[in-house]
Amino acid sequence: MTPTPSARSVTRASYRDIALYAPDRAPCRVDLSDNTNAWGVPPSSLRAIAEVGGSSFARYPQLYADSLKQAIATYIGTTPDTIVTGCGSDDILDSAIRAFAEPGDRMVFPDPTFPMVPLFARMNAAEPVAVPLTRDYDADATAMLAANGRIIYLCSPNNPTGAAFRRETIQTVVERARGDQIVLVDEAYIEYGAESVVTLTRDHPRLLVARTMSKAFGLAGLRVGYAIGAPELVAEVEKSRGPYKVSVAAQAAAIAVLGEGMGWVRERVALTIDNRRRFAEELTRRGLRPIDSAANFVMVPVTRANDIARVMRQRGVAVRPFENLSMVSEALAETGGSALRITIGPWDMMAEMLAAFDEAGRACG
Ligand SMILES: *Cc1c(COP(=O)(O)O)cnc(C)c1O
Repeated sequence: MTPTPSARSVTRASYRDIALYAPDRAPCRVDLSDNTNAWGVPPSSLRAIAEVGGSSFARYPQLYADSLKQAIATYIGTTPDTIVTGCGSDDILDSAIRAFAEPGDRMVFPDPTFPMVPLFARMNAAEPVAVPLTRDYDADATAMLAANGRIIYLCSPNNPTGAAFRRETIQTVVERARGDQIVLVDEAYIEYGAESVVTLTRDHPRLLVARTMSKAFGLAGLRVGYAIGAPELVAEVEKSRGPYKVSVAAQAAAIAVLGEGMGWVRERVALTIDNRRRFAEELTRRGLRPIDSAANFVMVPVTRANDIARVMRQRGVAVRPFENLSMVSEALAETGGSALRITIGPWDMMAEMLAAFDEAGRACG
C-alpha cells in the first residue's frame, strides 16, 4: 500500500511555513483591540438588510457589485469604472498582489505596518521587503523606492502607529515609481481626518487606493472593501478577485450607509476625533508618549505590553499588545519595541480602559 502523502508534502514550498493568522480574539466586555467601530452598526444598514428580504438570499449577488460601485463612485466623486469592490479590503490587497506580482517579485512595505501585508505577499509567492519608518513615523520614500519592489505598499494613516504619512512623501513615491511598479496606498482609516490621495489616481495609472467599510462605516462583520484607480488597473484587480465577492446583505448594508447613513458616520467620526485627543492627553499625563494619531486608535509605547494586555483582559478590557516592533523612534527604543494599540470608542469605554490600564501598571510593577 502506498502511504498517504502528508498535507505538508503536497503544499507549495513558498506557502508551507506560513502560520495561520490568529490573534487573540476571545470575546471581552470592552473590546478596544481591533479598530472596528466601537459605536456599533449604522441603523440604516440594519434596516436595509431587513428590507432586501430573505428570499433574495437564495440567489447569487451581482457578479461585481455594480450597484455598490455606483454608490461608492457617488460618495468619492468619480465614475464606477474607477472602482473595484471586494470581500473586505483584505481581499483587495490579496487580489492586487496576485494580479501584479509574479512569484519572486518583491513587495515593499513600511515597518511597522499592517501585518496582513507581508502575509499576503508570501501567500502569493512574492518576497516581502520591510523598510523601517523614519523616526517621526513617516514612510521613507527614498529607501522604499530603492528597494526595487514590483508593488510598493503605503498605509496612511498607518496601522499600528496611527500616524498619517506626509502627503509629499506619498506623492514622491507615486511620482518617482518606475513604469513597472504599482503603488498601493491603504486608506483604511482615512475618514478620521487625514488627507486622501485618491485624486492622484487621475494622473497616475499605476496608483491604487484601497479603502474599507470595516472601520468608520461600522460593517466589519459584513466584509466590504473597495479600491479606486485607473479603469485599466481596477479591471485587473477585479479579474483577480473573481465574481460574487460581495454578498446580497453586504451590498445592501453598504449602499445604505453611503446614502442615508452618512450622518451617523460623520457624527461618530467627530466623537472619535474628540475622544482621541482627550485619551492621548490622559496618556501624556501619565508620563507616556502616545504617537500622534490620525486614525480611530492610538499607539502608546509601554514596556511589557503583553503582560499589561493580559492583566487588562482579566479586568474585561481588550487592547492589542505589540512586542519586538522595529525601534524606529526614541519612544519605541525606550520600551524595547513594546507598545499597546488601543481603539478609540465612546468615553465610558476609554475610562474603563484607563482604569484597567492603571491597575495593570500597578500589578506589573
Ligand atoms: C482594518 C484594516 C483593513 C481592513 O480590512 P478589511 O478586510 O476591509 O476588514 C485594511 N487595512 C488596514 C491597514 C487595516 O487596519
